[in-house]
Amino acid sequence: MRALLAGGRRKQVSLIAFTRQLVLVESPSDNKAAVDACLALAAARGKELGARVKIHRQTGCANVIELRFGPRAKNKDTARPILLLGHLDTVWPLGTLQAMPCRLRAGRLWGPGTLDMKAGVAMAFTAIEMLTEADLLRREIVLLLNGDEEIGSTVSRPITEKLAKTCSSVYVLEPAQGLAYKTARKGIGNWRVDVKGIAAHAGVDFEKGANAIRELAHVIEKVSGWTELNRGLTVSVGVAGGGTRTNVIPAHAWAEVEARIARRADGPRIERKFAALKSLKLTNPRCTLTVTGGINRPPMERSRGTVQLFRKAQSLAHELGFTLHEASTGGGSDGNFTAALGVPTLDGMGAVGEGAHARQESVLVEHLSPRTALLAAMLIS
Ligand SMILES: [Zn+2]
Repeated sequence: MRALLAGGRRKQVSLIAFTRQLVLVESPSDNKAAVDACLALAAARGKELGARVKIHRQTGCANVIELRFGPRAKNKDTARPILLLGHLDTVWPLGTLQAMPCRLRAGRLWGPGTLDMKAGVAMAFTAIEMLTEADLLRREIVLLLNGDEEIGSTVSRPITEKLAKTCSSVYVLEPAQGLAYKTARKGIGNWRVDVKGIAAHAGVDFEKGANAIRELAHVIEKVSGWTELNRGLTVSVGVAGGGTRTNVIPAHAWAEVEARIARRADGPRIERKFAALKSLKLTNPRCTLTVTGGINRPPMERSRGTVQLFRKAQSLAHELGFTLHEASTGGGSDGNFTAALGVPTLDGMGAVGEGAHARQESVLVEHLSPRTALLAAMLIS
């Protein structure tokens, strides 16, 4: 363990340099060329470290790259691989670097995508490099990097799930929750509700109209009432709109609704409720309602397998000289998918810092080496 810790410290400069390289290639999820360029940088780094590289090419969306390190897990006698999950897309548009330059200052590395999660990806490469150099890599490690996590992982999800089924466990390189690893995440569902009414002159033909906004207001009240805080279930209308002018009875109104669930069983439950909205008796029967959507990410429940992984990480962290806690979060990640398949998944194994998706996004440098050493230790124990 001491050797890993020392190794982590020796690699700190190159780890920061590679993180910076990744950050300097800006990679908003909706720009395929940009994200692919960042992914290509990671693929090249993998090749340098002897990875077997497979590119899952996509059209219209960023590619997904699969890097395999260490001996091939061929038969049942060898341990199944460990899957490392990361994404290289960010929420930041091209040009953000001008206002948020990537720089080291006050013990932090600042810049768009540093914390979420380019530093985490760089940590994974560094951990693998350390283990390769020390000839400690006895089992196969699969590092899967996508470029659509921030927009729901629609394209990468089936690839992630297929690979996860062949692996013993999944480590997610998302940032830590404060200083803690994440053992539970909420699931997320998204719906859109459209109300069709009847347009009419608000002064001349008031009674001929059917006000879609008023009807939508009833629906918003109804779905918002499905929140059950004590079971970690929340329903929130995040965006809504409708109508054209104040003197026109609105013929159309719509709302986008998000639900978050802590328990897997609440997925089908809330889906049934939204489905039943379609047959809801409307206050104004001349309005009609359409509802689309569903659960996008199932919750990552705190399973026995995940707790076992966490306990192992906790004792390894203790050996490395720091205390590791666990936490749950309302946010989702690709770990939600793998955990829902029953594959033990530990999340938040990337960088420590503040301000993901915010102006002050930054990584605390002091935690980079010990966390990379812990990641390396988790890959061989
Ligand atoms: Zn992320």
